Amino acid sequence: MSIANKLNLIKNTLDNSITLVAVSKTKPNTSILEAYNAGQRIFGENKVQELAQKAEQLPEDIQWHMIGHLQSNKVKFIAPFVSLIHGVDSLKLLKEINKRAEQNNRSIDCLLQVHIATESTKFGFGINEVESALSEAKQFENIKIVGLMGMATFTEDTKQVTQEFKSLKTVFDTIKNDTITTLCMGMSGDYKLAIEQGSTMVRVGSAIFGNRN
Ligand SMILES: *Cc1c(COP(=O)(O)O)cnc(C)c1O
Repeated sequence: MSIANKLNLIKNTLDNSITLVAVSKTKPNTSILEAYNAGQRIFGENKVQELAQKAEQLPEDIQWHMIGHLQSNKVKFIAPFVSLIHGVDSLKLLKEINKRAEQNNRSIDCLLQVHIATESTKFGFGINEVESALSEAKQFENIKIVGLMGMATFTEDTKQVTQEFKSLKTVFDTIKNDTITTLCMGMSGDYKLAIEQGSTMVRVGSAIFGNRN
């Protein structure tokens, strides 16, 4: 099946209120353009250099999301154009994003990453740290925290995955307001479960573009 077909099949199952981020990491520009020509405008990448390069080469109306772990010393390369930074997991990073946003005369939308998986390798604030991170973030005038993101444990155990998504939704419900409107959870393997648990934004890669090598 073509990329356009796979994209449309997924889009048809999604409610209009759900934002689809097409995760194009490792995929060539030709694949991204296929999705673009089928109407997709939001793409996610997890490597700064790849993201910056693709943004330069591809149509200007693409909204680029940085979805991976972001190192402070690389923020400057994406600050001029990035549309949403998903994986904000420290105040140090927030501070750097704020500084670079200010230098570019703009405000940058961010999601706080929250650690919901049992795996210790996943980055993020603890559930109990979200509220204090949010209040600290208020001092940064060139950052807008628009929501939360989380990744579930990589497991076939749908009960566990559901439980982890539920825990993030619970935190989200306590902080959501006119600005904090995005709950980003769910990837190719678990986006349906995530939506059932209240996700408003899903990050789907391989189900659109095929497996990555
Ligand atoms: C790669 C990646 C995705 C997409 O994964 P798929 O399983 O291919 O849909 C989603 N979120 C993050 C943070 C990723 O790094």
